[in-house]
Amino acid sequence: MTLTADQQVGTATHCPYCALQCGMTVTGTTVAPREFPTNGGGLCQKGWTSGSLLTSPARLTTPLVRVDGELVPADWDDALDLIARRVTEIQARHGKDAAALFGGGGLTNEKSYLLGKFARVALGTSQVDYNGRFCMSSAAAAGNRAFGLDRGMPFPLTDLAEADAVLLVGSNPAETMPPFMQHLRRAKEVGGLVVADPRRTPTAEQGNLHLAPAPGTDLALALGILHAAVADGHVDRSYVDERTHGFDAVWRIAARWWPERVERVTGVSATDQRQVAERLAKARNAYILTARGTEQHASGSDTVSAWINLALALGLPGRRGSGYGCLTGQGNGQGGREHGQKADQLPGYRKIDDPAAREHVAGVWGIPAESLPGPGRSAYELLDALGTEGGPKALLVFGSNVVVSAPRSAHVADRLSSLDLLVVADLVLSETAALADVVLPVTQWAEESGTMTNLEGRVLLRRRALPPPAGVRTDLQVLQGLATRLGQPAERFPVDAETVFTELRAASKGGLADYSGITYDRLRAGEALYWPVPGEAHEGTPRVFLDRFAHPDGRARFVPVEHRGPAEPTDEEFPLQLTTGRVLQHYQSGAQTRLVAELNDVVPEAYVEVHPDTASRCGLGEGDWARLASRRGEMTARVRCVSSMRPDVVFLPFHFAGAQRANLLTNPALDPTSRMPEFKVCAVKLEVA
Ligand code: SF4
Repeated sequence: MTLTADQQVGTATHCPYCALQCGMTVTGTTVAPREFPTNGGGLCQKGWTSGSLLTSPARLTTPLVRVDGELVPADWDDALDLIARRVTEIQARHGKDAAALFGGGGLTNEKSYLLGKFARVALGTSQVDYNGRFCMSSAAAAGNRAFGLDRGMPFPLTDLAEADAVLLVGSNPAETMPPFMQHLRRAKEVGGLVVADPRRTPTAEQGNLHLAPAPGTDLALALGILHAAVADGHVDRSYVDERTHGFDAVWRIAARWWPERVERVTGVSATDQRQVAERLAKARNAYILTARGTEQHASGSDTVSAWINLALALGLPGRRGSGYGCLTGQGNGQGGREHGQKADQLPGYRKIDDPAAREHVAGVWGIPAESLPGPGRSAYELLDALGTEGGPKALLVFGSNVVVSAPRSAHVADRLSSLDLLVVADLVLSETAALADVVLPVTQWAEESGTMTNLEGRVLLRRRALPPPAGVRTDLQVLQGLATRLGQPAERFPVDAETVFTELRAASKGGLADYSGITYDRLRAGEALYWPVPGEAHEGTPRVFLDRFAHPDGRARFVPVEHRGPAEPTDEEFPLQLTTGRVLQHYQSGAQTRLVAELNDVVPEAYVEVHPDTASRCGLGEGDWARLASRRGEMTARVRCVSSMRPDVVFLPFHFAGAQRANLLTNPALDPTSRMPEFKVCAVKLEVA
């Protein structure tokens, strides 16, 4: 490969993985950390080794088409012709919604936007959703109803550096995004870092206080701390009166959840609950931050609402130096849900059933508003319906590996196998791609330009650092190639990311997530642009709720929520609770990180963390292979005895494939508001494998 002059001095870009979007410099295929506010010049092991992805021998460089049961190399034109022909036939026979599209929260804003447009305009289907539904949808729903706006972290991350109390709930950044921990240094130094997590994670190890609620009881814990805050006189009455509505209804519920009662349900002592309320209330600057541990429940939206209620009662949101925020996981988890690849949304974070939103977006797209489909199925419901009577018969997957990452994953794999047509665009032959009828090899992070919106709502330019290998195309080229074969004009589906972004800006104009004032030139110049940016003269909005919340009257809403507990209780047959999560060395389904030797050599296989007494009761010891079973399936993992585990809980990382998939066990019970599956708790048994 010959490097251009730019490439020889290095290209300033961002990490391919998580939502921290650490700054890095790519020179050839070598990665080095770069000073950027979120990472302060640091990278985690995943970032340091991300250059390996660029030279991975597992990389796909030619389309593959299934012939007589085998995937065989094919010409790009033949592969795209085949897809267009099969989609057309399937839709002619079964209707437009027989074709579906599944996107990803790691895709750039431009891809997310064009995927949503491709689904509604080129396919004419309502059946489009993405894996971000499995990530932040509960926090998004709760943020929208409390604040009238979902910007996961409504303030710059660097604000946390001044905090003297931070409550982290269901979040393990010491493993998932290690450079983030530097922002909690002060809170830790002054004794104010509190971590609520059923496991004693590396993050909990660093905390000054660890609360270990039983899985699925966070909502009760939030009610107990709120009760303590009220009883001990910590509520900020003037803030509640001036900036919120609905406290009394919330208190009517919390009044029934006094700390001693909550202790019986959660296992967190009443003393600790009172101590947390006091620490947060007495701190000069305090934050409550939630993540997947809070959200991935059948009551995830209500659980996040309970923590937001606590933050509001203490007067934290919308004040400089204090607040509530949600730590996004996927690289573009925030932007990915703003631009229309979600079943219920159009670009600009608009609702798809809002007539004014439909008029605006249809105008930008040059189509009649009546031709826009309505809302479709949410991610799991879409996967569950594949191949069924009335369900989609063709599915196109971009940037997602649902065979590993979806709940009840054996069932999801069965549904994928029942399709008339499965198309997967990916870098490598992921477990989902291996089931496909057509696999399309696409570019990855450093081989293409595009924008990402990090966990703060700051829009970043991820620059192309080197050319892609021969034979690979960008997702935008794939979408144009398919759209033209489906009868669309090429100019409606541009392949240049900056051109797509210009259209995205127009489509987002006037919406909640207004990007209209953001340009590639401003990003190239290094401007720190946090949305909304409603004009090119606008400086962006680092802190969104300082003067008012986004509801029409400017006030936040308390949302009355009740504790419900896990959707699936334990019983004699399945006596343990399973919770799942990530490890430092792997990212999401592991499709990328399992290919990086420096990472995979450290954690090459699934393991189950279990209390030594529980292991011994099951006839298991350290290093043994265990079989775990739930009502949905079984899997195997190697035993790790961890004395800090609750004896009634086991933990599995979810990055592994085949018979080591944690999601063979997980429960697809859905949150009624966000349609988030209950990844974080289900009933299992543990046996000798
Ligand atoms: Fe930073 Fe996340 Fe990349 Fe690690 S994975 S280097 S924390 S962006």
